[in-house]
Amino acid sequence: MSSVMGPVCRLCRREGVKLNLKGERCNSPKCALSRRPYPPGRGASMPSRRSTYGIQLREKQKVKRIYGLSERQLKSALDAAGRAEGDKGLNLLQRLEMRLDNVVYLLGLAPSRPAARRVVSHGKINVNAARISVPSHMVKPGDVISVRDSRFIAVSVSSLGKTAWLKKKDKGGQVMSAPLRDMIDEGIRENLIIEFYSR
Ligand code: SF4
Repeated sequence: MSSVMGPVCRLCRREGVKLNLKGERCNSPKCALSRRPYPPGRGASMPSRRSTYGIQLREKQKVKRIYGLSERQLKSALDAAGRAEGDKGLNLLQRLEMRLDNVVYLLGLAPSRPAARRVVSHGKINVNAARISVPSHMVKPGDVISVRDSRFIAVSVSSLGKTAWLKKKDKGGQVMSAPLRDMIDEGIRENLIIEFYSR
């Protein structure tokens, strides 16, 4: 996950969806997208017609921003998804969802994905009792995620919902399976991302 720099709420307003980059603020009336539900910039509140390319580009950018990926990381995940057996789109989403930083976020151990990235990078997370400080580390079914630092207090993010493939435990959790499509954000249109890179 690449670091998100600058005013991150502009990213949500640009994509027109809540990317949940600011933790509790995202579910409060202070959310910038709730208050100004139109793209940033002069004249951006005017309705615009997008080309097919523009629609594909925005979907690709949205997914990069949700998971905090660089262009290279997303392309690499897509290439790996294409080499694996099965549906390429689902493979891609599974590779993104099963990143350690995303799992830490979904388990409620950090209030946002950027915060989860920092938690992992700072060495506060164990996977199967071994410290892993690489946010892009891919978890596997059966892996046990736990918090190393006892001073680190787990937070609860009850509104996430889409975590049926994870079993939450005290200050940690376990990966029960790879996520199925209906366990992943239905707002993502992975086919558009595949088409974008197939041009
Ligand atoms: Fe996005 Fe959260 Fe900012 Fe709302 S508060 S615009 S969801 S980062």
